[in-house]
Amino acid sequence: MAKLIDGKAISGAIRSEIKEEIAASGLTPGLAVILVGDDPASAVYVRNKKRACAEVGIYSESYELPAETTQEELLSLIGTLNKKDTIHGILVQLPLPKHIDEKAVILAIDPAKDVDAFHPVNVGRIVTGDYDYLPCTPAGVMTLLERSGIDPKGRKCVVVGRSNIVGKPQALLMLHANATVTVCHSKTADLAAECRQADILVVAIGRADYITGDMVKEGAVVIDVGMNRRADGKLTGDVDFASVEPKASYITPVPGGVGPMTITTLMKNTFTAAKRAAGLK
Ligand code: NDP
Repeated sequence: MAKLIDGKAISGAIRSEIKEEIAASGLTPGLAVILVGDDPASAVYVRNKKRACAEVGIYSESYELPAETTQEELLSLIGTLNKKDTIHGILVQLPLPKHIDEKAVILAIDPAKDVDAFHPVNVGRIVTGDYDYLPCTPAGVMTLLERSGIDPKGRKCVVVGRSNIVGKPQALLMLHANATVTVCHSKTADLAAECRQADILVVAIGRADYITGDMVKEGAVVIDVGMNRRADGKLTGDVDFASVEPKASYITPVPGGVGPMTITTLMKNTFTAAKRAAGLK
């Protein structure tokens, strides 16, 4: 039976630490969150981010814009926030409506305020290992491992998924942590065989319950990044918990695993941005 990695508890402990550090710093970090359109899942994420800001002592502003907002209007708002001294971090909730070019929006954010670490400048710095901000979800995964006493050094890590937001940066962070890394995707010839090699398996594909017990090595650490909404409204991961849990040594649940850590890393990045703006880091 696997040990459960309790992302909610770990995240709660880290948020308390961040809250204390912010209070001791005398700074008021500021985060602007921009939501375009009325996607219900995005609205929930934005609400959770605002709540987390209040919890740790980060000032937040939210801009909830109609779906018809033009790209020019959005870029103009980002330009204003780039110059605003009370705002240290800018987050544009993705996905954006189809008529807005996501790349242009990411490029418009001042890299110093890019607390999601999506700007190519920050992505490049993650590749070289010389970074200020780590992408929130993959960094959250690394923190979960660290707090659970799991060191990727010398171990075989398989990352399933190669998105710019999760899979690719996850593979890089594992590499920086001295794991031997394989990245799988939808064209991987034998996914099950690759997964069975993993000492640490990180899955981020967006396919409900896709990774089953027969694809996992006995004693593997299994991290499920997936968040899929079932027909009955329940949230489920990319890993079939029922068949994988008996084989794994550690496993993250969904919900309550990786999800809470994503927002916690965002809080950390916003505080880092405020410290940098104050010349403290
Ligand atoms: P994307 O859709 O951007 O990328 C999915 C990746 O999975 C692609 O690289 C794709 O391969 C690969 N893939 C899809 N199907 C298969 C398959 N059958 N076998 C192997 N690889 C496959 O998704 P994201 O990375 O943005 O998100 C992945 C999951 O993580 C989603 O469930 C999302 O909701 C969740 N998520 C959770 C977060 C959290 O805070 N917990 C934060 C962000 C995401 P290819 O490149 O070949 O198309």
